[in-house]
Amino acid sequence: PKQRFAGKTAIITGAGSGIGRATAIKMAREGANIALFDLVNERTADVERKLNQIRKGCALAVDVDTSSPERMEAAVKKTVEHFGGLDIVFANAGINGSIGPIEELSIEDWQRTLNVNLTGTFLSLKYTIPHMKSKGKGSIIITSSINGNRRFASFGFSPYSTTKAGQVAFAKMAALELAKFKIRVNVVSPGAISTNIDQSTEPTEELESIVIPIEFPEGQQPLADGPGKPEDVANLVSFLASDESSHITGAHIVIDGAESLL
Ligand code: NAD
Repeated sequence: PKQRFAGKTAIITGAGSGIGRATAIKMAREGANIALFDLVNERTADVERKLNQIRKGCALAVDVDTSSPERMEAAVKKTVEHFGGLDIVFANAGINGSIGPIEELSIEDWQRTLNVNLTGTFLSLKYTIPHMKSKGKGSIIITSSINGNRRFASFGFSPYSTTKAGQVAFAKMAALELAKFKIRVNVVSPGAISTNIDQSTEPTEELESIVIPIEFPEGQQPLADGPGKPEDVANLVSFLASDESSHITGAHIVIDGAESLL
């Protein structure tokens, strides 16, 4: 493979599974050192082992909840001390969280999804920006979703969709703010991708007893027979992380096999 990331260091949040995992593998193959941020340790340790087989010493698993300011600050510090700098941040960790009718959702349900998906994204930038500023360059990619921007057919996902829409606004503000420091910020919105994301769904009891009014099959993608693969998103994210996209910032790119056009 080409070595677009030789000598570069990336932080990938949610690197223990799905889109984050596939992106970690792709970037490691292309020369990057990678800090794998996740709160599920066993899966992340597996990814760390796999990366170290690709290139010894290129991976560092960091046990961190991206919604915790103290732990994120410490995790970023540990990464920079370990690898000696930071070039790329993939703010990707996310949960479906609680789904259900709005009046059935508790304030805790609502806040948990906002904490992980929105505050986690904020903290992923807050603590890493100074390190990229000191390098005079950087690339940040945020994972949003078509569910929040293009397509709202997933009944009960009001907290999730709200966070995914918020991430797009946040990415655009960050892109404008950071342009003068040559730090690029882009946001990707996948359609359905085969990952473990469904394990992060917490349906309310109410939801199970009601008919879900989805009018068309979710995840149907005209370009493919089924959902996309994590590697599809990894290819796009790697492009946005690399110098090949050096004139692209503030862009919101949909990657869904035309799912959102249905
Ligand atoms: P996944 O569940 O396979 O992977 C997500 C990883 O994030 C998991 O390893 C999980 O442990 C980790 N994580 C969750 N909360 C965390 C926290 N607070 N701190 C640290 N790590 C945490 O799911 P995925 O599909 O790869 O999800 C990645 C991103 O893609 C999410 O932001 C998700 O919203 C988005 N997305 C997924 C799809 C899809 O269909 N899979 C579609 C659109 C957008």
